[in-house]
Amino acid sequence: MAKAIETTIIPGFGNGFIHAKKGMTVRITDLEGHQVADTWAISTRDHEEYLSAATTRMLTGRMFPELKGVFMTTCDRPILTFTRDTSPGFHDMLFASCCNALYARRGHKNHPNCRDNYFDAIGRAGISHANIPDPVNIFQNTPPRPDGSFQYGVTMSQAGDYVELRAEMDCIVVVTACSSELINAGVSTPLRLETFKPRPKAKTKK
Ligand SMILES: [Zn+2]
Repeated sequence: MAKAIETTIIPGFGNGFIHAKKGMTVRITDLEGHQVADTWAISTRDHEEYLSAATTRMLTGRMFPELKGVFMTTCDRPILTFTRDTSPGFHDMLFASCCNALYARRGHKNHPNCRDNYFDAIGRAGISHANIPDPVNIFQNTPPRPDGSFQYGVTMSQAGDYVELRAEMDCIVVVTACSSELINAGVSTPLRLETFKPRPKAKTKK
């Protein structure tokens, strides 16, 4: 297997980020299984251009990420392409990140959460955002039922399952290990974030 250019381990209840040049592959691995990876991508050139779940839904005509599908930015440009998936294939593109208020309503004070983790990660990456963009929730298993309500399923990914995303522009990929006990099989566990150099394009015969 190719050697990673850069590797970041995201602890359970934690966050991390990685820089990807255009053409590089970004891999997100669920190390222990049943762990949601809230994922964002921000243009390196302009931090106000970033992956928009809403724009992606509209332009792809889909509620959920699809293998070989693109993720679009707030400026209607491709930022990532979904190139590989070894997991059972459940991913979400409808939920906001969990936040302090959500856990407080459930009686947990100062619970770790993806919103605080996002701002911690972008702060270390030198990015300043007033608001948190809606994430793509890799491995999250919360499909809608026919009546429009959500089914809160436990994340189905197993230890070692991963997804790969090709950077379509230079970008910073931010990932948080979701803190929710409900959808992560009881506890938040670590993820690995890696970049690999661009794969050579298949030669076309003349
Ligand atoms: Zn979360």
